[in-house]
Parts: sequence; C-alpha cells; structure tokens
Amino acid sequence: MNAAAAGAGEYAELGRDAYALVEELYPICRSITGNGLRATLDVLQRRIPLSRIEIASGTQVFDWVIPPEWNIREAWIDDAGGRRVVDFRDHNLHVVNYSAPVRARLPLAGLRPHLHTLPAHPDWIPYRTSYYRESWGFCLSQRQLDALREGEYEVCIDSTLAPGSLTLAECVIPGAVSDEVLLYAHDCHPSLCNDNLSALAVATLLAQRRAQAPARHYTWRFVFAPATIGAIAWLHRNEARVGAIRHGLVLASLGDRGALTYKRSRRGNADIDRVGEHVIARAHAGSCEDFSPYGYDERQFCSPGFDLPVGRLTRTPNGRYAEYHSSADNLAFVTPAALADSLRACEQILALLDTNARYLNLAPKCEPRLGPRGLYDLAGGQAPGEFGHALLWVLNQSDGGQDLLAIAQKARLDYGLVARAAAALVNARLLRRLP
Ligand code: ZN
Repeated sequence: MNAAAAGAGEYAELGRDAYALVEELYPICRSITGNGLRATLDVLQRRIPLSRIEIASGTQVFDWVIPPEWNIREAWIDDAGGRRVVDFRDHNLHVVNYSAPVRARLPLAGLRPHLHTLPAHPDWIPYRTSYYRESWGFCLSQRQLDALREGEYEVCIDSTLAPGSLTLAECVIPGAVSDEVLLYAHDCHPSLCNDNLSALAVATLLAQRRAQAPARHYTWRFVFAPATIGAIAWLHRNEARVGAIRHGLVLASLGDRGALTYKRSRRGNADIDRVGEHVIARAHAGSCEDFSPYGYDERQFCSPGFDLPVGRLTRTPNGRYAEYHSSADNLAFVTPAALADSLRACEQILALLDTNARYLNLAPKCEPRLGPRGLYDLAGGQAPGEFGHALLWVLNQSDGGQDLLAIAQKARLDYGLVARAAAALVNARLLRRLP
C-alpha cells in the first residue's frame, strides 16, 4: 500500500469515529445554558481534557447579560381525547428552545400562534428558539399540524428558567511556543448534526490527535461555547490575553456533502486567510469568500474592537441548504467521509501554520555549495529535480521578507516540498527560522 492510500485508510477510520461521536451527542437536548450543555461537554471530556468555567446568570458581558439557566424535563400537547399529538420525547426540536414553563387548556385557535412548521417541507420539524424574549412554543411538521382538529388541547412545558450559569469549556494543547491558534466551535444546538455536532466531533478529534503529535509549534486553544452569548462571554473574560492568538478558525457545519468553504477574517489578508485559501482552494477544490458580519461566531472575534485573525471553515455555509435549522439536519445528512475530509483539511491548514514562517539565508552571498552538505550538487551537470528547485527557491527568497507559503506560490511548487527543503537547509545550518 502506498503512503497516500494508507493516509486515506486512516482518515476513513477517523471519519467513522467522528460520526460515532455525532451519533452519541445527537439525542442530548442542548441549549445555550443548562444540563444538556454540560452533558455534551461530559461526552467530549471522555476523549479530551476540558477545563470548564461557569458564568452566573445576570453577569454583564459587554452589551449582553448572561440569561437565566434553562432546563427541561418534558413537553407535550394532548388533544381533547387525551391522545398525545406532540411529544418532546419523540424529538428535541418539538419544543421551542428556551420555552418558559406553561400548563394550560386552550382551543386550537389559541394554540396556533405557539406552533411553528415548515410548510415547504411538510415532514420536517423546524428549529426555533426564544433566547432573549420570554415565550413558549412547539415545533412540529406541517403534516402533524394539518391533522389537528378543532377543539380543546392541553399543553405542558415542564421547564425552568432560573438563576444558574452558562458553561464555557476549553482544551489547551501546549506547543513549543506560547503563541496560540484558537479553534472555536459552538455547542448549543439540540439534535442538529451538521450545525453543530459535526464541528464538535471534528474539533474533538483534532485535539485528540494533536495531543499525540510529536513536533508541535503553536499552542492550540479549543473553545467550546454556546453561539453568540458564549463567544461574547469568552472574549469578555479573555480580553487581556487575546494578543496571544496568532491565528484562529471558527469551525461549523463540517459534515454535509457539499464542498469546503473558507471564509476570510475581517482583515482579509491575515496569515490564516492565505493558508486557508491555499489549502481549501488548492488541495480541496473548495471555495473562499470574504468576511461578512453575518454567520457564526467569527462575528464576535472579528468585531472591530478585537479584529482577530480568525477565519471560518465550513462545508456548505449556514442558511444555504434547505435542511439548515430543521429536523432534516439529522444523522443521514452528515457522512463519515465528509467529516474525515473536513478533519483532514483542518489538519492541513494547521500543519501549514505550524511550519510556515519567514527564514533567513545564512550564506546569502552567491549560492552556497549544497553538494558537500549532502543536499544536492549543481556541478553534476544534471538539471535539478523538484527538491533541488525547492532548495534553490528557499535559499534565494529567504531574505526575511516572505514566508514559505509565499515562496511556494511564487515558485509554483508544492508547499510540503518547500517546507521539507527549508527543514533540510536549517539542518545544514544554511537557514534560520525567524520568530
Ligand atoms: Zn445554527
């Protein structure tokens, strides 16, 4: 078996492992606070070391306030005959996430304003939330709604909205330097596989594998937090130390069958943007798009007061597939192959970040002799091979002004080859990595 085939086999196995993690997380009813969120972190913690921070309800974080903690036990609608027509036990999406408790009898007309469906997809259940405006409701398929007859219904949502806390989690894998790569995934959606279980699974496997990797340059900081409020709370707590973040990626929607999409940081020309573009467009035939203040939590990291070098990696972006935020974003919508491909792309981006640097040629006056150093001998009369070309390009361009990726692009050589040439030249004391 050749190396590429062995690599493909390894990633196929990793894709199955990531899918198994998605399956395990799928039944948990998550929200932006509460025990479902903590149970989700318990599952991740069996694989990676997590430190958790609880932030009390009512805490001010920039312009926002940590909301009351939400927990739910049951939710159902019974018809006049006592038949259960909607039951939270059948699907977590059946209750509007963050619904206030209710116990009432009301006619169908009174119930209707609290019922949400997707008429265009009559078998799907929508995902709705009521995070920052207290209300209650149910989500159901259009077919279920159409089957309801006029008459009295009994509704029950046995939930609590009470002072508690919001849970943040971090996993830090130290590298040779304290400069950091931030990897962020939101963890608050209930029973939606692509958005966001796919990214939780990919991030967890990334951390597992990084912990076992031999040569690590950057320190990696994984942050798992509820969308929007969690990212805001994390930035509020970590404002003094975000300067350590050299590169960052928001991970989301990494399990669907679409191609990969890299979204640039607000800066547009940060190293992560150049590396993300190179890997996604070149190695994965994916697409790249410019920053916009809409999407996932790149909105917070790239707000003007932070403006961090944080891009985003997804497959099909949010809102651009019909299954988005519905019960059709299920275990059939994500595949082990897509998860494996996403994991591989992340590792390629991160490996490139680890090795990409500016170097200085230590023998810059004319060409140094490579033959006596066991590298390659121009005196042989043969044209240099690809590796020889890479050595010459790295030596010629390493004046401290441009990094290896720029050199690879200028030379139209594979980045991996250029990185290997740089490593060989460092070994031969002809090159020095600049900080
Ligand atoms: Zn979402």
